[in-house]
Amino acid sequence: MKIVFATANPGKVREAQEILGKGFEIVTAAQAGITEDIPESGNTLRANSLQKAEYIYKKTGLNCFADDTGLEVDILGGGPGVQTARYAGPQKSPADNIRKLLREMTRREKEASSARSLGLAMEHANRKARFRTSVTLILNGEKHFFDGIMEGRIALERHGEGGFGYDPVFIPEGYSVTAAQLTDDEKNAISHRGKALRAMAEYLKQAK
Ligand code: IMP
Repeated sequence: MKIVFATANPGKVREAQEILGKGFEIVTAAQAGITEDIPESGNTLRANSLQKAEYIYKKTGLNCFADDTGLEVDILGGGPGVQTARYAGPQKSPADNIRKLLREMTRREKEASSARSLGLAMEHANRKARFRTSVTLILNGEKHFFDGIMEGRIALERHGEGGFGYDPVFIPEGYSVTAAQLTDDEKNAISHRGKALRAMAEYLKQAK
């Protein structure tokens, strides 16, 4: 079965193809004739993945899926969340996003510690965080949703060269290294997107 993935990221296509297996041929949006930026203006991850999948479906009429991911940091009140990709600004690099993240967390930690020294009750500072992915599948015109979460914490500084995005500062739960220090296979086995895509793959295989 041919299925369009609303992404321009070849790493994501490779990952999804490995998870879905040989029975599915994954085609990128560009290969399906969509070369413009796909709109992404929702207030939630699900709204964004739905918006992207619907855009592809309306233009091509083909079975398709889209994903949207957010990083939720406890001490930042669950932020940057849906703003994760644009955290440091629309044209900024992943390194800029990481710098802003570490800076904001230090600022919040200082605020929390000065509140504690004044005897004010404030939640214990922590570096807990999670990645959350929402996948929307449109199969024969019907919408289906799959979610995946990877729990962990934010490191004090960058480590590792692998992965992408915030991986150099994200330490998955149960690990002492960042996601950027894992192999692709190790990361995919535990990642938010890996979990959501495996749930979608299970559904597709039984629906086929
Ligand atoms: P998107 O929804 O995949 O475009 O991702 C939104 C933001 O989260 C971007 O800044 C990505 O770099 C980041 N991101 C998504 N998945 C991962 C991941 O597996 N590791 C690190 N950063 C990620």
